[in-house]
Amino acid sequence: MQSFNPPVRTLMGPGPADVHPRILSAMARPTIGHLDPAFVGMMDETKGALKIIFKTENELTMPVSAPGSAGMETCFSNLVESGDKVIVCINGVFGMRMKENVTRLGGEAIIVEDNWGDAVSADKLEQALKNNPDASIVAFVHAETSTGAQSDAKILCKLAHQYDCITIVDAVTSLGGTELRVDEWEIDAIYSGTQKCLSAMPGISPISFSERAIKKLSTRKTPISSWFLDLNLVMGYWSEGAKRTYHHTAPVNTLYGLHESLVMILEEGVENSWVRHQKNHELLRDGLEAMGINFLVKKEDRLPQLNSVLIPDGADDAQVRSTLLNDYNLEIGAGLGVYAGKVWRIGLMGYASRKENVTLCLSALKETLGK
Ligand SMILES: *Cc1c(COP(=O)(O)O)cnc(C)c1O
Repeated sequence: MQSFNPPVRTLMGPGPADVHPRILSAMARPTIGHLDPAFVGMMDETKGALKIIFKTENELTMPVSAPGSAGMETCFSNLVESGDKVIVCINGVFGMRMKENVTRLGGEAIIVEDNWGDAVSADKLEQALKNNPDASIVAFVHAETSTGAQSDAKILCKLAHQYDCITIVDAVTSLGGTELRVDEWEIDAIYSGTQKCLSAMPGISPISFSERAIKKLSTRKTPISSWFLDLNLVMGYWSEGAKRTYHHTAPVNTLYGLHESLVMILEEGVENSWVRHQKNHELLRDGLEAMGINFLVKKEDRLPQLNSVLIPDGADDAQVRSTLLNDYNLEIGAGLGVYAGKVWRIGLMGYASRKENVTLCLSALKETLGK
């Protein structure tokens, strides 16, 4: 056995995206104890910076020590009790996982379905809210990475509250890449991931809970079935001021990586990061359209950080992707579900959202398709 030396790739798929060298080197710094005062100080800074980029004052804002899927489970397992009626909007893979979370917790999932590639329909959600006055939660995906569609989180949350529901929002791909305002849009429980538009490594899930969500959590009739994800316990570990108690061993070096990624996004400015993602998307879009390649999602619903395009007639999906990987060290994503073999998903997330990556992708695709 020998040391593993991965090839150097350009990651333009659905995540993980390119990790910035500053973040890689931050993770190589010496490991210290997770209750060391120096580490505790870094944890507090991390929480403060997460509040800034989520645009929230929520006290309960912190990184879960596990990937985005664990952030999803944290939201659902803390907020959904057996018998709860939860309206789940499904317009792609990740909405389906939300439904799976609800039913495994003994909740009743009411499905609002939209075509894959479309945004979640506010009209359909309103109908479901009218038909189910006993529903207590609405869940939806802000940025559906499986299709590249963006839903209007502000309108969907407003509707949910009009019908006395709290909201669970998947922002794994949106945080840092597109406009997101937790307090202004009144999002109650939100989870994200570090490996998409935060330019960092996979493995951490920032979350935030509003007062409304905490009220639902604190008035539960039954204990939370997951010990690891039970926020009542996790809060004792992450809460400021209170004397921290051991809950689990934080992934110390990975959190150095998240901390550095937050330093970088604050240096850039979170709004500037949204603008950068949009500009590079437009560059890529213009280049692809000039090659005759069309987008799956209609213009007004497109995510700048995840570009789903229809595979041109005559192109061999697997062959093209493997040529890009082997000859150009360039990774793009395959289609999922109904779009397997029909679309490519080209990510421009975080540090990968750079002009030189757009140029590389366009020229590599042009040469490959030309053959
Ligand atoms: C990537 C992703 C997830 C899952 O995150 P992991 O870190 O892979 O667990 C959840 N939701 C959306 C929308 C995603 O893009």
